[in-house]
Formats: sequence, structure tokens, C-alpha cells
Amino acid sequence: MDAKQHLLDEIISRRQELVALTQELIRMPTLNPPGHGYLEICEFLEKRLKSAGFETELVRATGTPGDSGKYPRWNVIARREGKYRGQCVHFNSHIDVVEVGLGWTCDPFGGEVKEGRIYGRGSCDMKGGLAASIIAAEAFIALFPDYAGAIEISGTADEETGGFGGVAYLAEQGYFSPNRVDHVIIPEPLNKDRICLGHRGVWWAEIETKGHIAHGSMPFLGDCAVRHMGAVLAEMEETLYPALAERRTSMPVVPEGAKQSTMNINSFHGGLEEPEEEFTGFPAAIVPDSCRMIVDRRYLIEENPQDVAQEVVDLLERVKSQRPKFDYELREMWQVAPTMTAKDAPVVTSVARAIGVVMGRQPEYVVSPGTYDQKHIDRIGKMKNCIAYGPGILDLAHQPDEYVGVDDMIESAQVMALTLVDLLAETDEKD
Ligand SMILES: [Zn+2]
Repeated sequence: MDAKQHLLDEIISRRQELVALTQELIRMPTLNPPGHGYLEICEFLEKRLKSAGFETELVRATGTPGDSGKYPRWNVIARREGKYRGQCVHFNSHIDVVEVGLGWTCDPFGGEVKEGRIYGRGSCDMKGGLAASIIAAEAFIALFPDYAGAIEISGTADEETGGFGGVAYLAEQGYFSPNRVDHVIIPEPLNKDRICLGHRGVWWAEIETKGHIAHGSMPFLGDCAVRHMGAVLAEMEETLYPALAERRTSMPVVPEGAKQSTMNINSFHGGLEEPEEEFTGFPAAIVPDSCRMIVDRRYLIEENPQDVAQEVVDLLERVKSQRPKFDYELREMWQVAPTMTAKDAPVVTSVARAIGVVMGRQPEYVVSPGTYDQKHIDRIGKMKNCIAYGPGILDLAHQPDEYVGVDDMIESAQVMALTLVDLLAETDEKD
């Protein structure tokens, strides 16, 4: 039997171990916010990877958003050197999970196995992917002990809240840099036969319209900021939304609806504050003097980031020219550029070949509608050889009764292990 087939069989033989590892990870409720139990899960991963011959480091992202004595932002990075010099393949998984929410029919932190699925918050996003990458690396090391280069596995904090205490911090410290790492695979749940090359861009901003406070019985003595914002919304419906819908990308974004520019109105506040729940009185008669709206604009690789902001400024100026006393402020909150790894990048072609061997078909190449930790690896780490590839169905992420399929994890682990052969051992093991 050839060495690759032996490796595929080896992963199948580790099925129970893969299930048990995924269950153990799910049973650690690493909810974020607030960032619960990061040290515990990092120490668990450290112990596991040390016994597989990895050198490990625990790194706290001190001073990053959310980091505190009660909720420290811990990360674990493990590295195992091969016998010869070569390239480094890094598997990066986030250890945090989002809030449980309503509608569960099983224990969200129980790790229950039913009909070939493991249930729990974070099973799909993305503890199943983390477990698959560990089993893949361990099986590869067992069968190809003389590999060249290095394997790295990291468990990182805070992806669900922007990744500043996780991958962003580590990239700033040099852990994700071309000096140290050659290939990055992020086992996010993008489906086992898809390679995710990158994501659209993001621009968040707050728009405020200004008015003048007065008694609500004499609104003509004031100036209503909410009506001014209404004019902004009307102009958006009239000109901006149709323009966004026209813009199509050549990036293979999924789902189909995200192949165009989009903008979500994230929130809208005008007039009196919402009263406390126990307050039983009536509102005061006030003309609102301020209205604030937060917009979440997702843009395409074909769009110029400066134009995204300018388009909204132009719109506000248009409203201003048509409306007496109209005054506004625009506060840009944050921005992430779109990114897309080239289809012929080495990590892409290796994973594509492995998908061909394991599943007997060509992969689907996709781009994510929203961002994930690749944004930091790209922008801070300056690494262009990065993809998301992992088991699980993307639509199940953040849902009640989230699960990951055991067969999917097995096949993904096989793909990851074959990718390691391709990138680290192929010179010794040509068949
Ligand atoms: Zn995720």
C-alpha cells in the first residue's frame, strides 16, 4: 500500500479519538464576550500538543480590547520542527464561541453525539476544525516522522469580536510573518470541498444629523434631527442602494446575494433614550436635537476604499444642498480591505490536489461575505499564502443546535494530512 493511502486509513482509524477531542473542546464553554476560559483551553491544547512533540508557548495579549484580570486574552502557539529544513505550515483556529442564544434542544456544552453528528456551541465554528487539524498533524507525524520543515498549530482568542486579542496581536509580535510561516490554513467551517480564498472589504461609520431642541408642541421652534436623518435614508434608497446593487464582483463570493456591494443599517438612535424597563411613565415632549445611525458597508475588490467613504460624504453633501439647516458629522469607525489569495498560490494548489484525492472532485473556490482572521494575517503579517479550509456547514455557525458531521471532519482531516505530505514530505515520498 502506498504511503498516502496508509495515511488516509490512519485517520479513519483515529475516528473515536477525533470525536473525543472535539467533545472535550466543546465542553469548555469559551464564550466570547466576555472571553471565558481561554487559559483552560490553551493549557488543554498545550498538554495535548506537547505529547505529540510540539514546543508550545502561551501568549497573553495584554492590554488588547477585553483583556482584564478576570478575562485574560490567552493564546497558544505550538511548533514541531521536522528532521530537515523546509517550509512551515500553520493551522490557525479560534478558540472562542458566540453566545448560546435560544432554541436549543440539547445541551450546548454537552458534546452529544447523535447519528454521526457532534452537537454543541462551537462544534462547527470551529472546534471541529481545530480537532481535525490536530488529528491530521498527529497522524502525519506518526507516518512521516522524517518530514522537512515545521508544523504549527495555534488556538487564538477573540475571532468573534474582531481578533484583536488573538491573531492581530500575534501577527504584531511576529508569529504570523513570512520569516516564520509559509502557508496558513484556517479551518473555519466553509464546507469540506470548498477553499475560501478571502473576503470582501468592510467599512463601518456613524452618521449623525444635528437639530435643535424645543418643546414638542411647537416643533417649528426647534429643528428635528430625526427628520434630517429621514432625508438621508430617502436619498440612500433613491441613489445609493440602486448603485450598490449594480456593482458586481468577479470574486467568487458566496452566497450569491453577496456578489454585489451591500450596506446594512446596523442601528439608529434619535430623540429620547429608551426608558429603563421598570419606568412606567410617558415620554417628555421634546424635539430631537441629534440622530445617529451606524452603517456597515461591505465592498468589493473592484472598489476603491477611498471611494466607499467619499460616496457617503457626497450623498450627505447632496442632502445638505437641498435641505435648509441640515448639518451632519461622519465618523469612520474601522475599515478592512478586501483580500483574495491567488488560485495558484502554493497552499491553494496543495489543498485542491488533496480534495481531488479524498473526494474525487475539484474544489469549489469561494470568498466569504464577511471577514475572519485572514484579515490580520494579510494586513499585519503581510502573508498572501493563506486560506480558510475546514469541515462543517457555514450556515450552522452561530445557530441553535449547531453541529459538525464526524464524516466531514474525517475527510477534512484527510485533506489536511495530504496537504502536509504535499508541502513537507513529498520529496521523500514520491509515489
Ligand atoms: Zn469562526
